[in-house]
Amino acid sequence: MLIRKGYNISMDSFYTEQQKILSQTARDFSLTELAPKSSEIDDNEHFPIEQFQALSNLGFTGLTIDSKFGGEDGNYVDMMVVIEEIAAVCGSTSTVLITHVSLASQTINRFGNEHQKSHWLPDLSKGKKIAAFSLSEPQNGSDALGLNTNIEKIDEKNYILNGNKIFTTNGEVADVFIVFCTSNKQAGYKGVTALIVDKNTEGLSIIPQHGKMGMRGSSTAEIVFNNCKIPTENRLLNEGDGYSIALKILDSSRIMIAAQCVGIAKGSLNAAINYSKQRQTFNKPISQHQSIAFTLADMATELDASRLMTWRAARLHDEKLSYSKEAAMAKLYSSEVSGRIVNKALQIHGGTGYFKPSIVERMYRDQRVTEIYEGTSEIQRLVISRSLLN
Ligand SMILES: Cc1cc2nc3c(=O)[nH]c(=O)nc-3n(C[C@H](O)[C@H](O)[C@H](O)COP(=O)(O)OP(=O)(O)OC[C@H]3O[C@@H](n4cnc5c(N)ncnc54)[C@H](O)[C@@H]3O)c2cc1C
Repeated sequence: MLIRKGYNISMDSFYTEQQKILSQTARDFSLTELAPKSSEIDDNEHFPIEQFQALSNLGFTGLTIDSKFGGEDGNYVDMMVVIEEIAAVCGSTSTVLITHVSLASQTINRFGNEHQKSHWLPDLSKGKKIAAFSLSEPQNGSDALGLNTNIEKIDEKNYILNGNKIFTTNGEVADVFIVFCTSNKQAGYKGVTALIVDKNTEGLSIIPQHGKMGMRGSSTAEIVFNNCKIPTENRLLNEGDGYSIALKILDSSRIMIAAQCVGIAKGSLNAAINYSKQRQTFNKPISQHQSIAFTLADMATELDASRLMTWRAARLHDEKLSYSKEAAMAKLYSSEVSGRIVNKALQIHGGTGYFKPSIVERMYRDQRVTEIYEGTSEIQRLVISRSLLN
């Protein structure tokens, strides 16, 4: 069961008035709109399209997109506070939103030309269309250089795209895909190109990938491109710029996965505090057993540290300072901390926490993928150590 008054770090002196309002709006929305359905969408692997539209009514689907193209001109701290509140209640909905805004739409916002931005972004910002980001393939995930999806230029105006992408979040429902492909595999990263692909392109097919352990309310799909004709005007920047686009967007979107982890950890901690005050053993609430109280103290301390690291990475991003290492640190630390916190929250719930519809049972499963997607923990350590040793 969720509680309205939960544990919240005092971030007031760090957030602007606007951010406090955003945070409260997202919290109210999550508790009233998402909480009643979060178990059901998890059980049924149902993509919450109606919730996506409700998110757009609040301006969240275009939060960090330029207002010139229908967005809200928000920064990454704005987005971070929203993602935290949504993930504290429904991990799946936060995954859908992060993928739509911070991965896919943001790629067009940041790297698109004026024509591309005005063509694609208004509908994406307003939630009339949904976006997805297709980088991973059956033979490569961490090693983004190994792309097999390829393009061939058939004339000045068109490419032919062939290949398979897997694990594409929002895949079943997306209207627009950012697709990374190679025009020259031998050239390695210099051969990678990024394209904007319309879902109605002839030869594009979508194969749903069901059976996820967690984040089951977000859709995941394999995307197959069979001789798809893609206009060259849909290319982002130049041929060969795709690898740098992917790295830059993953760097910044990672901050939102860290925020998602903070949210999952907060939701779990709140559930544990609430349960520990109600559950009695040996004639007193379990919160009055010191080992439980100390466990809660450890959870809160780690949660605060991960939120502060996430906030630092978001601020560096917003101040246009270097943030790659700090974003990787925030993602690495917050994802591993959220793993420890959901585990402890489940332990505090005893057998009840092992069963549905306990929120910690769902969060325990949802949390796991945060250590895998948008760069595994090992890849974050690679980014951080390279920066230390350079
Ligand atoms: C639910 C879900 C949603 C996803 N959504 C998307 C999406 O929207 N778009 C998208 O493009 N992808 C998506 N992914 C894919 C995700 O980003 C990849 O699964 C992830 O990058 C890892 O790649 P892989 O699965 O191929 O594992 P691999 O790269 O094969 O790695 C296997 C193991 O080896 C480790 N490893 C690999 N290289 C190294 C190294 N150099 N040093 C040390 N250890 C290493 C990894 O950390 C991992 O533990 C999603 C995945 C999941 C599960």
